[in-house]
Amino acid sequence: MSPTKAVPARDRLRIAIQKSGRLAEPARALLSACGLSWRESRDKLFCYGESLPVDLLLVRDDDIPGLIADGVCDFGIVGRNELEEQAAERQRNGVPEAYRAVRNLGFGGCRLMLAIPEDWEWRGAEQLQGLRIATSYPAILANWLDALGVDARVVELSGSVEIAPKLGTADLICDLVSSGATLAANSLKPVETLLQSEAVLAGSTRAPDDARAGLAAMLLRRLDGVMKLKDRKLLMFRAERRNVPELERLLPDADPLTHLPDGGDSIALQTMCHGAITWQRLEELERAGARELMVLAVERALA
Ligand code: ATP
Ligand code: ZN
Repeated sequence: MSPTKAVPARDRLRIAIQKSGRLAEPARALLSACGLSWRESRDKLFCYGESLPVDLLLVRDDDIPGLIADGVCDFGIVGRNELEEQAAERQRNGVPEAYRAVRNLGFGGCRLMLAIPEDWEWRGAEQLQGLRIATSYPAILANWLDALGVDARVVELSGSVEIAPKLGTADLICDLVSSGATLAANSLKPVETLLQSEAVLAGSTRAPDDARAGLAAMLLRRLDGVMKLKDRKLLMFRAERRNVPELERLLPDADPLTHLPDGGDSIALQTMCHGAITWQRLEELERAGARELMVLAVERALA
């Protein structure tokens, strides 16, 4: 095989993802599912795309919005929280928008929440007047307070926000919450949601007009295919005609049943199910007359 020819950067798409952390693995897995593969560099900061001219830049998540804004990367996989914080900061400083969330990716789910000491009673945002709120999301918090006309002090911290009330550096906090265990461990309770977040594919507001445009369209189409198939399973079984209405009732999250041509007394049926098919559901379907039940993973599809 001849060695891969070096192509100028503008002919290759560049995607920034988190180097390590919560979004690193799922981001790579998602891009792999889109048919991308890479050769890693020795410093593990750059992965050269092999199956397609799509390279990866492995960085801190905080750097991703800026890399897109500066045109260094075409796309990035980052939490909506990070994207919105940097967008809010740009907006507060009068800097024009430079990126946007192009797709929600269905992982990294969390909420940016206000949390107060467990023994406080929550009576609403007016209560925050004059208090100190520790956060790593000062711009989102400032916008939220401004919108409500509340004058509170935003104390910006880059980490360990949840211990600020204990240390006395703030009265309450505004931080990311998923299970709530960290809050509980620090005697805090969540009271208001400022932002519902998940990982997103972020892209530049200026679409490329060179070879990258076709690559970007292909990537998005494959991504849509992968996202559409998430949690979808093909369910196949046999049943007698008289049991079909009851079986349909047990499958509210599935497409209409397709009857497959068959000669016998029972008929073969199949459907695409959009929710989880647990053992319990299979047993329920069996009790309702389904036979030879089979659940198949759907690997790829183009709509
Ligand atoms: P980096 O070294 O890249 O700056 P980080 O410490 O800022 O890493 P992580 O803790 O890995 O980032 O979190 C990355 C993203 O994961 C967050 O920005 C958020 O979108 C998402 N996330 C999901 N659940 C949580 C959670 N419970 N706490 C923090 N982030 C969460
Ligand atoms: Zn970070």
